[in-house]
Amino acid sequence: MLKENLKNVQDNIAEACMKVKRNPEEVTLVAVSKTKPLSDIEELMTYGVTEYGENKVQELCDKFENVSKPVHWHLIGHLQTNKVKYIVDKACLIHSVDSVHLAREIEKQAEKKNVVANILIQVNIAHEETKFGIDEKNIYDILDEIKSFKHIKVKGLMTIAPFVENPEENRDYFRKMHQLLLDIKSKNIDNIDMSILSMGMTNDYMVAIEEGATMVRVGTGIFGERNYNI
Ligand SMILES: *Cc1c(COP(=O)(O)O)cnc(C)c1O
Repeated sequence: MLKENLKNVQDNIAEACMKVKRNPEEVTLVAVSKTKPLSDIEELMTYGVTEYGENKVQELCDKFENVSKPVHWHLIGHLQTNKVKYIVDKACLIHSVDSVHLAREIEKQAEKKNVVANILIQVNIAHEETKFGIDEKNIYDILDEIKSFKHIKVKGLMTIAPFVENPEENRDYFRKMHQLLLDIKSKNIDNIDMSILSMGMTNDYMVAIEEGATMVRVGTGIFGERNYNI
């Protein structure tokens, strides 16, 4: 099942790229493996999948320790400052930085471990009360502080779009994110690299790609439904 699902997602990515004349190689697929067993990850690894997304620090650390070969781990869920120390040298990319306070702790822990942490700034583009992420109007204030951190590299932006029946409803939000990314890029701020736009999940990754996503986070579409009760 995993093999067919993966093929289907890869085909959809290629199709969305073709529609807007983008090169599929510009789009990185992150397989969101949260709640799923290591055996699923091991199987996907044999099909060449190297990027895995987890939303919990503990689960990322457990899988990091137990996987048979090194792969890249993306922290995509909300990160509490007291947990930064556990993942700062394990996550290849932290997608969910939404405050200077959190960035400061990442800087501190990354310095201790002598690494540079790659991060994305999470933007709550639909201003949903239930979601984490900054208001886009604060982005420049935040970047202005983070740009001087020596152990952090800002690689781009991330958003979690609203849960909607029809993915077209999120198109405007994706477009706004892309525009924001381009605006920031045009300012050429030191130490701020806007090469990654992480947006699009199982329900809406094709629309996200059409609007400029360079990284999509797909869980259900690859692994099937999650069961939180086990
Ligand atoms: C769970 C999760 C995903 C994947 O969701 P699916 O709808 O299963 O594809 C993507 N991004 C984040 C931040 C998530 O928490």
